Amino acid sequence: MSHDTTAPRAPTGTHDVLPPESSRWEHFLARFAALAERYGFGLVHTPIFEDSRVFRRGIGEHSEVVGKEMYEFTDRGGRQLALRPEGTASVVRAFVQHRPVTPWRAWYATPSFRYERPQAGRYRQHHQVGVEALGSDDPDVDVEIIVLAQRFFESLGLKNFSLAVNSMGDAQCRPAYVDTLREYLRGQARVLCDEHAQRFELNPLRVLDCKTSACRDATQNAPKLLTALCESCTAHHERVVAGLTAAGVTFQTNDRLVRGLDYYTKTTFEFSSHALDGAQNALGGGGRYDGLVESLGGPPTPGIGFGIGIERVLLACDAEQVFAIAPMPPVAFVVDVTGGEGARDLVAALREKGLYVERAYDGRSMKSQLKAADKSGAACALLIGSEELAQKSVTIRALREQREQVTVTIESLLAGVDATGEISW
Ligand code: AMP
Repeated sequence: MSHDTTAPRAPTGTHDVLPPESSRWEHFLARFAALAERYGFGLVHTPIFEDSRVFRRGIGEHSEVVGKEMYEFTDRGGRQLALRPEGTASVVRAFVQHRPVTPWRAWYATPSFRYERPQAGRYRQHHQVGVEALGSDDPDVDVEIIVLAQRFFESLGLKNFSLAVNSMGDAQCRPAYVDTLREYLRGQARVLCDEHAQRFELNPLRVLDCKTSACRDATQNAPKLLTALCESCTAHHERVVAGLTAAGVTFQTNDRLVRGLDYYTKTTFEFSSHALDGAQNALGGGGRYDGLVESLGGPPTPGIGFGIGIERVLLACDAEQVFAIAPMPPVAFVVDVTGGEGARDLVAALREKGLYVERAYDGRSMKSQLKAADKSGAACALLIGSEELAQKSVTIRALREQREQVTVTIESLLAGVDATGEISW
């Protein structure tokens, strides 16, 4: 019998995040959490897999995400489940299930799974942070949400990005517009890209968002949704535009912005980086979904939210050379040439007091331990030789500056940490 001895690798389109890169992720998440909480959002965790219907009904059968990209499976009990392809539908499912008091504001950080063709900035497992605000159709909420995303990107140091805003209309005005657009596209069917020549009847709006020059040219003179909005959608859109202007946020109105998920109504928006390659330059986006709660079995409840792609944003940060997080070095590195018990106890005592300290293991030589101490970036080495061990003391040697080394008792070293919060000598 032959055994497969090849080492398994992470699946295509997925990636590991290791230190020091993972420390950027920690900072990214902490910064997003702090900002979201300042705007009144509370953290929500939902399962990574759901009843497939959550996404089929929520996102829409005809969307790419559900139709072509969803990871679906039947579990051992015969249940039809799917890995979450985005964050919103699960949060809304949880809202319908638990019926929290509205207005309700939730933020999340989650992996998302889509069977896409992997390339730079496009993965089969990517990660998103996002927010959802349920229970109000006030356009000022739309503004707050967009401003929150804008401020988040700014706080990372990003500058080279832009914001596009659109309105998708609602159940009152969109159906008539979609009919008009479908009629218009029938006249253009021969010149649409292959995919949309086949599919435009099903979802004509999607053609507006198609990146091929064929579809772009064909829709150049297509009827515009923004001019077909009903009175209340127009008023809503105008208030959003006024609110963004009042907040000093720069944006363009883009009536091609229909976005890939079917649930949007009224406001949609998207942030794009100009520092990233065109096809994968969306940093995040979202919009209003006033029918989504109902489609998942809840009472009529308006809502709005966004999702931001963590990897994408970090790629944009790299391209703009911002948000570089230098890993914190230990404050001290304990070097023990007496067998390691001194290091064991001193490291434990210093960590109890809240300090980040390191040590060497495996009874290595003084020279090798000092090399490791230097490499760690620690400000000082705490040396334990036989004399120090006998006298319950430690010798402090500066590693980053010229300075006389001193020997102090461990008791006074720890008392110093209590008094100052650091190793002082
Ligand atoms: P969406 O849910 O499609 O609006 O995506 C929200 C954000 O997630 C996008 O703006 C991207 O930043 C990011 N994103 C979406 N799909 C992927 C993917 N396959 N790989 C990496 N990031 C993605």
